[in-house]
Amino acid sequence: MKILVAVKRVVDYNVKVRVKTDHSGVDIDNVKMSMNPFDEIAVEEAVRLKEAGIASEIVVFSAGAPQSQETLRTALAIGADRAILVETTAELQPLAVAKLLQAVYQKEQPQLVLLGKQAIDDDSNQTGQMLAALLDLPQATFASKVTIAEGKANVTREVDGGLETITILLPAIITSDLRLNEPRYVTLPNIMKAKKKAIDILKPEDLGVDITPRLKTLRVDEPPKRTAGVMVADVDALLDKLKNEAKVI
Ligand code: AMP
Repeated sequence: MKILVAVKRVVDYNVKVRVKTDHSGVDIDNVKMSMNPFDEIAVEEAVRLKEAGIASEIVVFSAGAPQSQETLRTALAIGADRAILVETTAELQPLAVAKLLQAVYQKEQPQLVLLGKQAIDDDSNQTGQMLAALLDLPQATFASKVTIAEGKANVTREVDGGLETITILLPAIITSDLRLNEPRYVTLPNIMKAKKKAIDILKPEDLGVDITPRLKTLRVDEPPKRTAGVMVADVDALLDKLKNEAKVI
């Protein structure tokens, strides 16, 4: 079984981003970038499936700036076999990424596509779902457990009320949630080995995909600052504030 995994290069989750002074977006100049954490979980899951003898090949995909090669190298060091970079410095929205993945899917014909449930920069939570729609394939989003057997995937999903387990036929699209696994640390020997693995570099035009953005960002603002808390004298004062100031009861 071949698995295709999508990995995005995003601002590291420890970085506190700042809004640009012209409010056109967030400033990512000289900011630490890393693999989207949910994508790391997706790569780890693919590697575990390979180690269990269920998968035979793992292909990792990324779309974005040339530096996304570093992200792909990390995925190769975790245990992926080869990589595909669709290189562009243009803005990529989820629909464009889903179309690029659709084109790569058609070339590679994997039995499973793993993505993160969302990218922590745009928080869209759309790409996996759009890909499933474009390919007309079954999807299981927010996966916290995946087992593969007899051409099917049993997926436990994190839903609002708790956990839901569904069975979907392969080929399918699965998006990873936080509790699916804990990604391993990348070891130095594996980083060295990853340097020898192949990264195919393509342009969106090579795949015949139009990546023109369909959405326009009007303005980006910082969230409102939280005001300091106050100590209340007693329960009656608290109830009074909740009723008359916050108006929540
Ligand atoms: P989003 O819909 O933007 O929240 O992203 C959901 C998932 O789609 C991510 O966790 C990645 O697995 C994948 N993805 C989104 N953008 C890219 C990209 N530029 N390159 C590779 N994968 C991506």
